[in-house]
Amino acid sequence: MHPKMKILEDNYRHKGLRQQLINQLRDEGFKDERVLSALNEVPRHVFLDSSFVEFAYSDQPFPIGSGQTISQPSTVASQTELLIVERGMKVLEIGTGSGYQACVLAAMGAKVHTIERQRNLYFHTKEILEQLPYRIKTFLGDGFEGLPTYAPFDRILITAGAPQLPPKLIQQLKPNGIMVIPIDEGEPGHQKMRRITKNPDGTLREEVFGDFTFVPMLTGTASD
Ligand code: SAH
Repeated sequence: MHPKMKILEDNYRHKGLRQQLINQLRDEGFKDERVLSALNEVPRHVFLDSSFVEFAYSDQPFPIGSGQTISQPSTVASQTELLIVERGMKVLEIGTGSGYQACVLAAMGAKVHTIERQRNLYFHTKEILEQLPYRIKTFLGDGFEGLPTYAPFDRILITAGAPQLPPKLIQQLKPNGIMVIPIDEGEPGHQKMRRITKNPDGTLREEVFGDFTFVPMLTGTASD
């Protein structure tokens, strides 16, 4: 076996642990079976170092290097549910990180575009994603700018804590499009999840959901 291919191993143990995690999420109240089946399909352990298989299938965030984390499975489930993704939709994700959330969106049939600002993480994740059966377009850049040449998007998902609604991302949302974004509120490092729907006349409708903790959404790119 080519050493690079080892990452693709998804054995009965992995599948069993993953099924347990999905059952746990269902018990916790996650109801959207399309989201749960996408989570059951994507092998989360390939995004972590091989010695952390147990952690891959427990409901916790995990460090992935460059000071960043892979989102907790229940957070990925919440954001994906709130986004209401249909097959064939053009989706923009800000904060590629490990690439896990991008794969979950792709497993739901979305055409995923994802932006990461940290150079090392961008190249590391790109290499992992190339070995998985999802077609995801990865970009190195500043998510606050979005992707004007690929806009507009049906859905935009921000997976870092944003200081406010990024105006350029709102511009890049289609009429009737939906954005899910954790926005800083209260103590530093804490966010409330918000779902923004763009009405056909360009006005915005906003719904507020629970409390979350994300790493900060920062401007520019970084080389670490
Ligand atoms: N979606 C990821 C979790 C992301 S953690 C996953 O499934 O693993 C948040 C990520 O957002 C980090 O990798 C961080 O580097 C990145 N990030 C922060 N600010 C950004 C910006 N302005 N543009 C793009 N990526 C950003």
